Amino acid sequence: MITTEMLTGQSTEHLIDLCGNHRLQPAAAKAFLELQAAAERAGFNLQPASTFRDFARQQMIWNEKFTGIRQVMDAQSQPINISCLDAGQRCIAILRWSAMPGASRHHWGTDLDIYDPDLLPEGQKLLLEPWEYLENGYFNHLTQWLTANMNRYGFYRPFLHDRGGVAAEPWHLSYYPLAQEAERQLTPQTLLACWENQEIEGYRWLSQHLDSIFERYITNIDGVSS
Ligand SMILES: [Zn+2]
Repeated sequence: MITTEMLTGQSTEHLIDLCGNHRLQPAAAKAFLELQAAAERAGFNLQPASTFRDFARQQMIWNEKFTGIRQVMDAQSQPINISCLDAGQRCIAILRWSAMPGASRHHWGTDLDIYDPDLLPEGQKLLLEPWEYLENGYFNHLTQWLTANMNRYGFYRPFLHDRGGVAAEPWHLSYYPLAQEAERQLTPQTLLACWENQEIEGYRWLSQHLDSIFERYITNIDGVSS
């Protein structure tokens, strides 16, 4: 059981260091290191690209996307001109690829984005776009190996298919034994409480539509029924 502060990215007390500048909960870190060792035996250099992210960082990403400072992408990873959209349309566009501040699975210390630096072509920057991980992408073999092996170590992909809500994120892995607890704890009420006295762009629209946002973007994802 983690506290509300841990659940919403406002505490780091539940985390330990992983692979240098990354952080996860101890059990998730241990499981990831075992997965990483197994991947190495299979010829992969499995590395975290992003692990824990705090509330302030998610808030900055959200607010910068809402105000057009940071690029917002559509389902085909093409940039959207957000200045033409009203508040609700902006929120929906951002939610395809980014969670609301306080509602990111990266707050929990159970979830991480992965890649293999050795498979990246020379000079190619990691984009975290689906094509990199799917057929003909340079991480395709890693994706297939993870699909066949990660469950044994407690990992699954919560964002596997695009259902019109959250986009498919084949790079995003979740440590199920701890993540399922966090999923149960996160509610619209928890989120509203953590937004008090915080500057959240689109707050009025978000707070009026929070139940349906949870339904569409948070509780209705792969492998999770509630
Ligand atoms: Zn992720």
